[in-house]
Amino acid sequence: MGKEANVQELLFIKPVFHNKIWGGRELQTDWGYDIPDGPVGECWAISAHPAGDCLVEGGPFNGRYLSDLWDNEHELFAGAEGDRFPLLIKILDAKENLSVQVHPDDEYAHVHENGSLGKRECWYVLDCKPGTQIVVGQRAHNREEFAQMVREGRWDDLLYRVPIQPGDFFMIEPGTIHAIQAGTVVLETQQSSDVTYRVYDYDRVQADGTKRELHIPQTLDVVDYDLPLPKSGQVSAPEVGGVTQLGACPNFEVVRVEVRADAPVTLQQSHPFMCVSVVNGKGGKVTTPAGTWELGKGSHFVAPALSGDLAFEGDLELIASWLPQTR
Ligand code: ZN
Repeated sequence: MGKEANVQELLFIKPVFHNKIWGGRELQTDWGYDIPDGPVGECWAISAHPAGDCLVEGGPFNGRYLSDLWDNEHELFAGAEGDRFPLLIKILDAKENLSVQVHPDDEYAHVHENGSLGKRECWYVLDCKPGTQIVVGQRAHNREEFAQMVREGRWDDLLYRVPIQPGDFFMIEPGTIHAIQAGTVVLETQQSSDVTYRVYDYDRVQADGTKRELHIPQTLDVVDYDLPLPKSGQVSAPEVGGVTQLGACPNFEVVRVEVRADAPVTLQQSHPFMCVSVVNGKGGKVTTPAGTWELGKGSHFVAPALSGDLAFEGDLELIASWLPQTR
């Protein structure tokens, strides 16, 4: 097989799992992954971040890290710039509340976090218990007011919550106070960054008796006090040919793709790469000029620059993302 053919094949990704005090077991019981013992909160489904670099499974690049391919086989991502694979796709299983947190933008992270990227992220709600809410904003008007509410422990006044349902979508701009609450499973698309400033952890104690570190000064620095508060996460964009635009931002675009047995969907691959995660369904498949692969809930792949269009068949729900056209 020539090199030409190699760079067309889809890159199926082996996820990396992280234990978290707020995690559960859904990634095993509902998703069928082989996960570590204990509470597992995060599946890093497509990642080249050093804290959870994923391996490619199968195909000509079997057993190689995604970061290695970015660095040494860059024709796979032709047209994408930057010194690292820029996106990170996760599934989060929150059995308990996540800490209330905020992420910096690129500029702050570069200066204060050793050249790291900032973190813009978004959530697609896959599952939640009835009546579940999330934290997606805060009510202080400025730094002083925020600091005072924190000192006084007025969390209910400070934190802005909205109810959620499966299918909701939230864009979390840098500087947004946010927290996923107990009983929620989301697919997260984000910049490849691990910089989190924790502002409140419900006074929880870890197994070793300590509390997780808080980062109040950094939080006060990076909260955007002027961000508008979303009324809900309901998606208003129409579904066109099985594809619904969920969100677009300077770092990524995210769509939901609904493939039905009587309505196959073809996604044009005109990007340096595409990240695709199957979040529902089984017995489906994807066909490109280079081959056909079986798909089911929990499959994740990167379509390289030269993969050609992706023809999906079966009964599948997918979340796909790519870099914005104009960077
Ligand atoms: Zn976050």
